[in-house]
Amino acid sequence: MIDNYNAFIKKSELLCKGLYLDEELINHYKEQGVEIDFGRKGGAGPLGGRYFLFENGILVNVALWDNINRTDLVLKENLEGYFEVFNIEKNDFFGKLKLVQNPEYYKPMYKTSDGIPMKKIALVHGVNCLASTIYQQCVYWACGEGCKFCGIELSLHSEDTILEKSPQQMVEVIEVAKKEKRCDHMTLTSGTDETKDKGANRYIELLTEIKKYYPDLPLHVQIEPLKDLSYIHKLKKAGADTIGIHIEVLDDTIRKKITPGKYHIPYKQFKRNWENAIEIFGDNQVETYVLTGFGEDYNKLISDIAKVVSLGIIPFITPVRSIPGRNNLPITDHRLLVKIYQKAANLMKQYGVNPLENKAGCVRCGGCSAINEAYKVA
Ligand code: SF4
Repeated sequence: MIDNYNAFIKKSELLCKGLYLDEELINHYKEQGVEIDFGRKGGAGPLGGRYFLFENGILVNVALWDNINRTDLVLKENLEGYFEVFNIEKNDFFGKLKLVQNPEYYKPMYKTSDGIPMKKIALVHGVNCLASTIYQQCVYWACGEGCKFCGIELSLHSEDTILEKSPQQMVEVIEVAKKEKRCDHMTLTSGTDETKDKGANRYIELLTEIKKYYPDLPLHVQIEPLKDLSYIHKLKKAGADTIGIHIEVLDDTIRKKITPGKYHIPYKQFKRNWENAIEIFGDNQVETYVLTGFGEDYNKLISDIAKVVSLGIIPFITPVRSIPGRNNLPITDHRLLVKIYQKAANLMKQYGVNPLENKAGCVRCGGCSAINEAYKVA
C-alpha cells in the first residue's frame, strides 16, 4: 500500500501531467463495468478531468488527455477495481488508481421538480463534495477580459448547465446526492457580477434556503474581493462556513496577463478582504487559489506565499490546466511543484495555519491540490 509521502509525490506529478486515456479502450473498460470519459468541459475547477483515489484513499483530480504527446503517464488495465498506471517514457510502473464513479443522479431520468436534469444543477467533485456554479456568467468574459484558464461559460454554451440555479433546485439535488452519500459538504462558486455586491446577494438567498433544510451541511462560497466588506459578514450569517477569495496569480506582472479583468482589483484589496474574512470565518476557514505554471520566479513565489500564509490564509496551490481543445497553457514541472508545496506546508506550520481543519469546499475536498498531503508529511 502506498504511504502518504509517496502519494503526495505522485499526486503532484499527476496534477501537473494528467493521464493519457486511449479512446479505443473506453468501451473495453465499460464492459468491465467502469464508465470512464474525458470529464466535464466547463464550469468550476480544472476541466477535462476525473477523480481517482490512491490505494490509501487520497483523492486526485486528474486531467485525461486523448493525445499521447501530452503526458508520459498512461492508464492501462483495470484490475480488481484499480487502474494500473505506467510511465511509458521510463517504462516503469507508476501506481494504482481507482476511478471515482459518477453518482446515479447524473442519469437523465433524475430531474428537478421544474424539469431540469439534476446534473445541470450540481456535480459531485471527488467523493462527497457537491459543487455548483450558481451563476454561470462572468462580467469579464463579456468584455473580453476573462481569466485565461477559466471555462465558466463553456458549459453554458454547450447546454450542460443553466445560467442560474434556484434555491429550490439546489435543495432537491442535495437531497438526492445525500441519499447516495455523495454530499458531505458543498462548494458554491459563481461568475463575477457587475453589481457592487459581486454576487453576494445571490449566494445569501441560496445559503439561507440550503441551511433551512440542511443546517449541518458545511458550505463553502467563492467570491471576488468586495469594496463593501459588510457582505463578508452577511455571507457568514446566511450560512457559509468557509470562504475562498481567489487571487489566482501572486506575481503582479503575470497576474495582469493571465487575469486581465480581475487584475483591476489591487493586491491591497485582496489583503483587506482576507484579513476581514479571517476575523469573521475564523482560523483555517479562508483560502485563496494560487495557480502555478506561468513562469513565475520560484523565490518570489515563495515569498508571496509567505505573505498570504502570514495572514492566516490557506494557499490552495494548483498547477494550471489547459482547457481541452481550447488553449495550451504551460505545464508546471512536478519536481518544482513538490518543492513549492513543501515550502508552503512548512510556512503553514510556522504560522499555525492548518488546512486539515477546514470545514468545507476545495480545501476539504483537496482533489485539485496536494497542499493537504504536503502538510500531512511536513
Ligand atoms: S478542490 Fe475539489 S471541490 Fe474544489 S474544484 Fe477541485 S475537485 Fe472541485
